[in-house]
Amino acid sequence: MTVLAVSGLAKSFGGVHALREVSFSVMAGELLAMIGPNGAGKSTCFNVVNGQVRPDSGSVRLGAADVIGKLPRDMWRLGVGRTFQITATFASMTVRENVQIALLSYHRRLASWWPRAANLYRREADALLARVGMESQAGRPCSVLAYGDLKRVELAVALANDPRLLLMDEPTAGMAPPERIALMALTAEIVRERGIAALFTEHDMDVVFAHADRIIVLDRGRLIAEGTPAQVRANDQVRQVYLGSRH
Ligand code: ADP
Ligand code: MG
Repeated sequence: MTVLAVSGLAKSFGGVHALREVSFSVMAGELLAMIGPNGAGKSTCFNVVNGQVRPDSGSVRLGAADVIGKLPRDMWRLGVGRTFQITATFASMTVRENVQIALLSYHRRLASWWPRAANLYRREADALLARVGMESQAGRPCSVLAYGDLKRVELAVALANDPRLLLMDEPTAGMAPPERIALMALTAEIVRERGIAALFTEHDMDVVFAHADRIIVLDRGRLIAEGTPAQVRANDQVRQVYLGSRH
């Protein structure tokens, strides 16, 4: 089942063609990696899909719905999760409270009567925290967490709206290599068990080749290759513009 279908996306900033005729789709339960050198247009593509940037042309479909013109908040309501934004957690609140706030927001309950709401969605929050291995730290403030643990809380927060599409722009940025692999392994497990369509960017090729079901390659706004990790690894053009420039 196709969850996200992007077709003919184009976006220019002044004279810079950040995206030119980009088309791809993501299926339920699939982990699709988008790779490419700096400036290739990856973040712009994420921002278009998420509703932050309006494309000059092209279409974005979520399930059967055309979602061009929807705002990020609408997209979140429609089941698009976005992980690992630095502002996604409230540092002084506990791990559990952060997840409860996200659940409250999704269920359209007012958070203004916090702290009387402290028991609302507590069970659901704890279940999400258990899934990401953070149940033992549920009562700690986010401000004291190790960076890798904070990333796992942000993953739990992103799961609070029960997303059908998860967007992850460089989710492992700033993490040490073993932690990167562990976070992506956890994300991949959750995505597959829940049938979530996941689109991610990542600089670490070990992470990409270990976890992506499929890879698309952008270069200067153009989609230049698409395939399984083995196909992309063997693609001459990809080696030239991307892998060749890094290794
Ligand atoms: P990537 O995430 O692959 O590194 P980006 O999507 O961030 O690439 O950028 C693609 C191109 O578009 C770059 O040349 C970048 O400078 C330009 N760009 C991105 N966002 C903006 C913006 N808001 N204003 C002007 N130029 C932008
Ligand atoms: Mg980027």
